[in-house]
Amino acid sequence: MQAFVSKRAVTPDGIRPAAILVDGERIQAVVSPDEISPESHEIHDFGEAAILPGLVDSHVHINEPGRAEWEGFETATRAAAAGGCTMLVDMPLNCLPPTSSVLALEAKRQAARGKCHVDWGAWGGVVHDNQQDIEALARSGVRGFKCFLVDAGIDGFTMVTEAQLRSALPHVARTGLPLLVHAELPAPIHLAIEKLADADWNSYSTYLRSRPDAAELAAIRLMLALCREFGFRLHLVHLATAQALPELQSARSEGLPVTVETCPHYLHLHSETIANGDTVKKCAPPIRGHENREALWQGLREGIIDMVVTDHSPCPPAMKRLAEGNFQTAWGGIASLSVALPLMWTEASARGFSLLDLTNWMSAAPARLAGCQARKGKIAAGYDADFAVFDPDSDFIVSEERLHYRHPVSPYLGETFRGIVQATYLRGNCVFHGGVFPSTPQGREFANEAKS
Ligand SMILES: [Zn+2]
Repeated sequence: MQAFVSKRAVTPDGIRPAAILVDGERIQAVVSPDEISPESHEIHDFGEAAILPGLVDSHVHINEPGRAEWEGFETATRAAAAGGCTMLVDMPLNCLPPTSSVLALEAKRQAARGKCHVDWGAWGGVVHDNQQDIEALARSGVRGFKCFLVDAGIDGFTMVTEAQLRSALPHVARTGLPLLVHAELPAPIHLAIEKLADADWNSYSTYLRSRPDAAELAAIRLMLALCREFGFRLHLVHLATAQALPELQSARSEGLPVTVETCPHYLHLHSETIANGDTVKKCAPPIRGHENREALWQGLREGIIDMVVTDHSPCPPAMKRLAEGNFQTAWGGIASLSVALPLMWTEASARGFSLLDLTNWMSAAPARLAGCQARKGKIAAGYDADFAVFDPDSDFIVSEERLHYRHPVSPYLGETFRGIVQATYLRGNCVFHGGVFPSTPQGREFANEAKS
């Protein structure tokens, strides 16, 4: 039996000295370090480094099959392993075909075979015309569904109107799975863009004005009303506007089944410091102002925002239009799988949060969303032996070599982050250690319990 020992194991009961006993792929028990011995255990002693439950990232764009030149299972799951993440859930829109039918889901499984360094799952798409595929996708093992209320900006994945949503929602509700919603409505965006006819698209403030808070607020109001009416599990992806927090708070008090995520970039960057032409920081909804950023942190503190996941959304570097610096034509998306944990620790520790807060936001809550909370997201008996070994006291400078995903493009290059992922274990096996990936890909799809 293996024993993973640390003075700072991050368990649901708190951060404490512990020996985590692992039999095969699962945690058998969490005991005091003086209860183990070299005679009966293969001991991995990490000393002062913390052992966290492996992160679960429920918002990742892998692009394979069909757009593997953007990102692929091999590179995305390497970056995940390097970032202390042991389970990710892939978004349905960037691949071809998009994951909006069972046939497309099977194509994705085929594309993933033998390439994954961490475990993964799939979200299914809800698009304008696939209402009849929703329940079949659920039976085939998707973790839930994703839809866009505004143009997704990519060929092959259509947005849904309110009328189309209304015909999809009874199916979604019957599955019991969550519907993840990109919550921006087109009308406020069109209105804003009309006023920007002569604006300078090299300026970040033009882009920011083109995607106003009002677009998010209107979409969130619509979704809360539909959630009340149809009784499905609503999840709002990448909340960027803090103005929605009071309404989300009252939706919670009312008992609506709504969860909310935000992303590392909204909690770290802010619009006042984004230089003209710096399209590497373009994403949608946009990164807003400094005050808004602090209000999002307050939303986490108050538990209105449940989780922090990356929205890892890479593209070929040319699509970022870095040479022209045009915010209108550049691809909107930020890749951060490999550095999300240190970024978050840098910001969270400065605000008095603990590693336990971090694992609640980045492991336990996304595991619940993805329906893998009985096996992932916690260090406890019966759970998968998924660990991130994390030195919270050292720092490093973000460099291209540390990114590990397909194209080393990042808004964080050159920044100093606190905390280093020393090693990552997937179901008891080391999948990342000191910058290298020691094993062949052993990641599996997390589908229905019966299948796994
Ligand atoms: Zn996304």
